[in-house]
Amino acid sequence: MTSARPRSLTGIKPTGTPHIGNYLGAIRPALELAKTHDSFLFIADLHALTTQHDPKRLREETYAVACTWLALGLDTKEVVFYRQSDVPEVTMLAWVLACFTPMGLLLRGHSAYEELAGEAPAAPVDESLSEVAKKRAAIREVLEATGALSHGIVSYPVLMAADILLYDADVVPVGKDQKQHLEITQEIARKVNNAYGGEVLRVPKAAIREDVMTVPGLDGRKMSKSYDNTIELFLEPKPLRKRVMQITTDSTTLGAPLHHAGETVFELHKLFAAPERSAALLASYQSGRKDPASGDAPENLFGWGHGKQALYEVIEESLRAPRAEYQRLMNDRGHVDALLAEGAERARTVAQGVLARVMSATGLRI
Ligand code: AMP
Repeated sequence: MTSARPRSLTGIKPTGTPHIGNYLGAIRPALELAKTHDSFLFIADLHALTTQHDPKRLREETYAVACTWLALGLDTKEVVFYRQSDVPEVTMLAWVLACFTPMGLLLRGHSAYEELAGEAPAAPVDESLSEVAKKRAAIREVLEATGALSHGIVSYPVLMAADILLYDADVVPVGKDQKQHLEITQEIARKVNNAYGGEVLRVPKAAIREDVMTVPGLDGRKMSKSYDNTIELFLEPKPLRKRVMQITTDSTTLGAPLHHAGETVFELHKLFAAPERSAALLASYQSGRKDPASGDAPENLFGWGHGKQALYEVIEESLRAPRAEYQRLMNDRGHVDALLAEGAERARTVAQGVLARVMSATGLRI
């Protein structure tokens, strides 16, 4: 890790079992980014507490997410990897920031309400802008009425701003859905800087990945827990194969050319396979033959079952070693604790420096 590299910061919320959409859409790109950035990566357990009130599950999910990232290649020598709650300075900074956060900014925020949308009754599904606004208002009303809308949920973006600003992050890689939160962070940082003069807080840039891929699920829609169409990351071979075989396909018969662009089996295969392997599958799709050069014998005919088998094999090969490592780590919590404690110590060194700067600017300390 050299300080000349731009610093990036990523938070991971420990919620449920990760699926291959999380891996390809979030974990793999973050580990790629760590090669060129001074990376801070934390498990957002304080954020998880907004909705997870079962201590056993919160603990389990924190370990599960830590072990998932470690098993997939996170190198704790390169990346500062820590648990959010191990750096209490973040809550102190969050309070200072809260004193500069206009309420309107938080009430306009959307994720707070959508986060809990699952608990709200059926809302309008029309996606026109005014309908979305109405839907949000309806969700909010219900959440407020049931008491499910906590202060923590509404002020979530303030804690997120503290997560980022506490480490002088230069860039924060986020999906489009998180863009608004980052703008809130920038706005709060500017307000603090304006109030005290100078660069008390470093205003981070959003690294919005416009090309962000959407990994399709079993039914072709975005892979998501809420659609129940996921393939969990560390399934054993048998359940993994079963899941892959459940992918929805069209009714093209054996031996007829298959449509591949945007097709779930083909797209998922491409995300895991080396280019030559994906090209070979494409040739089979287009010819309807396992080996396009080997004629029309019945045993050479290619169909959906063969495509799915090819997908199963490439996922299984890619994830076999990480799965074993995940299981090993989940049974060695002492080791995981030690790694996280080490990460927290490195994170706190930076956090205490930034917090001291803020405390002194505000007049809370000399
Ligand atoms: P979630 O647990 O659903 O909030 O997902 C965590 C992160 O995983 C998201 O911020 C995305 O970056 C990524 N992700 C989740 N589902 C998908 C998907 N189907 N395709 C691509 N990325 C995804």
